[in-house]
Amino acid sequence: MRSVLGSIMGGTTEFAGNFVPRDECVVSFFDSTVCVGTGRGVDEGRGPCACPLVHRSAHRGQAQGPLHTPRHPLSLRKDEELRQREAAFHMGSTVQEDILQQLEALHREAEAALAQANSSETTQAWHSEYLGRKGRLTGILRNLGSLAPEERPLVGKVANEIKVALEQALQERQAAIAQAELEAMRRAESVDVTLPGRPQTLGKLHITTRMLRDIYKIFAEMGFQVYESPEVETDEYNFQLLNMPPGHPARDMWDTFYTTTPGQLLRTHTSPGQVHAMRQYAPQPIRVIVPGKVYRYEQVTARSESMFYQVEGLAVGKHITFSDLKGVLMNYANQMYGEGREARFRKSYFPFTEPSVEMDIDCVICNRKGCPICKYTGWLEILGAGMVQPLVLQYNGYDPTEFSGFAFGMGPERMALQKYGIDDIRYFYSNDVRLLERV
Ligand SMILES: [Zn+2]
Repeated sequence: MRSVLGSIMGGTTEFAGNFVPRDECVVSFFDSTVCVGTGRGVDEGRGPCACPLVHRSAHRGQAQGPLHTPRHPLSLRKDEELRQREAAFHMGSTVQEDILQQLEALHREAEAALAQANSSETTQAWHSEYLGRKGRLTGILRNLGSLAPEERPLVGKVANEIKVALEQALQERQAAIAQAELEAMRRAESVDVTLPGRPQTLGKLHITTRMLRDIYKIFAEMGFQVYESPEVETDEYNFQLLNMPPGHPARDMWDTFYTTTPGQLLRTHTSPGQVHAMRQYAPQPIRVIVPGKVYRYEQVTARSESMFYQVEGLAVGKHITFSDLKGVLMNYANQMYGEGREARFRKSYFPFTEPSVEMDIDCVICNRKGCPICKYTGWLEILGAGMVQPLVLQYNGYDPTEFSGFAFGMGPERMALQKYGIDDIRYFYSNDVRLLERV
């Protein structure tokens, strides 16, 4: 405002030459070089005029130019209006110019400040300071009211252009900062992709499970279905219906866990599954395998566990012979242990089969040369089998004069011991991961 006031004072000074005091205006009607009172010229160098009229300018001889130019009163009024308009114009244009200069200065300062901003927080602070509702640009525009209405559009236009330019610059700066911050974060969190990855430990099925699935697959291709039966059995199903009445000496072959309920026990073999299957399907032909856990009240050693798996097999129908038994089991041995296996059947005894055999194959470890696995015999015992005892058929719904069948039983853990050369059956259930990693 100081400059505006200065302009006003200046304007007054500037027009003072044309200003004629009210009490002297009449003097100015006359030729300024001749005093009205004395008729003597005022510029004749003869000192102050002695006339009684007081007109200082003329008498001092200092008045020049317009003061001594004859002027008509109407002309003076027009000059006054012009002077006021020009003064007003001069004052307004100066304010406008001042605001424009402020805007331009603000523009330059804001651009410089923005160039220094290097984070999202500083750009936000910059926006508040320059473009916010209480920002400096708004502060300057509050002075628009001091402008003449016709002068406001220009200032408004310039202010708007500056605002748009600054907002554009802000966006560009913010984008650049965001990109830089992203790059910094990437560098900070970057990983060396050339490092070798951490090895993933893949789980494995338990050896017993794998053996069981191999057995299921081979027998399924020969038409045998998997048949499940209970692990807790009755004496009747575990012994009597398999041709072992109470007191039968063959029961001594199976040391048994009895429960506190009389006549109830943990099955010692999967053979009671044969009884369940026959009683369910008789007199239909049967081809089933019965896998599952069995329990023996025995000392746990490297060769024997108190719980282990068995897979029982049973085929019942008309005209089934020992040749069928051999054919099925040879096919199984070839698929499980490889084509071209040699096999031998040794006579054996089971109460529920007649005749009964043990089936051996040539040692898969040493090819009959002799090794610890085959106890240097060159042969591995893989299962027991036989033709179903006629009494067992009769007990369970089949006429033995019309039906015949064969049965077999094998131990998956023993097969795994042989196949993988494991020397202790206790590893199977001691949960030692080294065994699982080994095979
Ligand atoms: Zn061997």
